[in-house]
Amino acid sequence: MISNEKVYDVLGIGFGPANISVAIAMESDEVGFAGTRLFLESKQGSIWQEHMLFEGSDIQNNPLRDMVTPRNPRSRFGFISFLHAKNRFMKFLNTGLHHPYRIEYAQYVAWVAEHFQKDVRYNTTVTDIQLLDDDGKPLYKLMDRDGNTYYGRTLVMAPGRTPMIPPAFTALQTDRVIHLNDYLKTMARYPAEALSRIAVVGGSQSAVEILLHLSDTHPKSELLGISRCFGYKQKDVNPFTGEVYFQEFVDIFYHADRATKRRLQDDLRLTNYSASDADVLDALYKKMYMQEVQGNEKITIHRSAHIQSALVMDENSVRIGLKKLEHPELFYEDVSLVILATGFKDIGMPDENDRGNLEPYPKLFAPVIDHIQLDDRGCLLINRNYSANLKNYAGDSCFVNGLCESSHGMGDAGSFSLLSFRSGEIVTGLNNYLAAIDGQKKTNGVARPEDIYA
Ligand SMILES: Cc1cc2nc3c(=O)[nH]c(=O)nc-3n(C[C@H](O)[C@H](O)[C@H](O)COP(=O)(O)OP(=O)(O)OC[C@H]3O[C@@H](n4cnc5c(N)ncnc54)[C@H](O)[C@@H]3O)c2cc1C
Repeated sequence: MISNEKVYDVLGIGFGPANISVAIAMESDEVGFAGTRLFLESKQGSIWQEHMLFEGSDIQNNPLRDMVTPRNPRSRFGFISFLHAKNRFMKFLNTGLHHPYRIEYAQYVAWVAEHFQKDVRYNTTVTDIQLLDDDGKPLYKLMDRDGNTYYGRTLVMAPGRTPMIPPAFTALQTDRVIHLNDYLKTMARYPAEALSRIAVVGGSQSAVEILLHLSDTHPKSELLGISRCFGYKQKDVNPFTGEVYFQEFVDIFYHADRATKRRLQDDLRLTNYSASDADVLDALYKKMYMQEVQGNEKITIHRSAHIQSALVMDENSVRIGLKKLEHPELFYEDVSLVILATGFKDIGMPDENDRGNLEPYPKLFAPVIDHIQLDDRGCLLINRNYSANLKNYAGDSCFVNGLCESSHGMGDAGSFSLLSFRSGEIVTGLNNYLAAIDGQKKTNGVARPEDIYA
């Protein structure tokens, strides 16, 4: 039905770790994939966590839980191969680092991505998705910001998660409130003296890292840490709870009922969320202590604090209204920048109890959501193999990569740990679907749904 247009077997949205891992799995010495593919990526390169790469901050996963090693320890694309290629293997071992620096891990991600240059179009932001009918089969049409169109027989969506903006800040029109995704870029924009008071909202590892970083780069600024918790919490790194990042856990979690899922999420939350590694907690505490000793206190932590309101005062400042344990009456803090280290959204139906961290589906799905099966709450329904069901077409032609924490468990979104297995399952799903479709083409017959699902 489309003339003069190239139709790819697979179109991917996003080329961060999730879809890079898919590209690896497509290689002939991995899972393998014989079709054509194109990944569309907003950024000018595959730069992992571009605006949170500061010296000294390390990754939070074992480096061997990379984009391929757990599935294929002999892969050319594992972290060890990267170290070897860079001639740093022996030196890296000598550092004794359990967790490499984030700057180095980002280099690893970029090094792998470079292998797939021909399959990626950078500087390309997908703005619209349409589902067309191609002789009884689904055909995905993507449009980018510049008006270019791309066609694919299947789609792998991996745009990363939507930043979580607490309700008090959602309606504000100001560049003085940012999400951590934009941290370094924003800091580069303002001279230090323009940021005399900076608030860092959230209780995550990123919140603590940013406070530490700011106290080095902006020693004259007053820093406010605002957290709902009594104190910043330490991450649960106990090996027993760490099994949440095993592949077997995905099966347990996926098949659990909703109440059990909720219970597991609450139980295991500190393995990844609202918690920090001991090294940064110690460093921040000692820094604050030293400032007190020297009579130069620059960091204040508002603990057990609840933000009630936020107001743009003028182009240079924002007023935050809050209550906290030691000060239950509403009080105000005027700051020149608010940094939201408040994490990312999961799929789920927002209700009066949620903290603004749920969305029924990512916004990018909106144009095609009427064609996709939703669950009884109206949320994106995702199969165990990460596919979403289309209402009018059988078979797995649409995959959701890296957004399935609420259905598949903690290892699915906020971590590298399961990327390698997940991408293997997705590529197997794509192969099965395309083989069924091509079979349909060859026989020139009508495919039965059971053939497509085989
Ligand atoms: C500061 C920080 C540190 C982290 N550290 C760790 C860690 O140490 N260990 C760990 O396991 N996990 C860590 N994580 C979690 C991390 O997000 C994931 O491990 C990983 O980045 C997820 O990969 P992804 O490809 O799903 O998403 P992303 O990394 O977010 O990549 C998505 C990509 O899609 C692109 N994109 C989005 N929308 C579009 C569009 N419309 N069109 C085209 N392209 C688009 C984006 O530009 C981006 O490159 C960290 C997260 C943060 C925020």
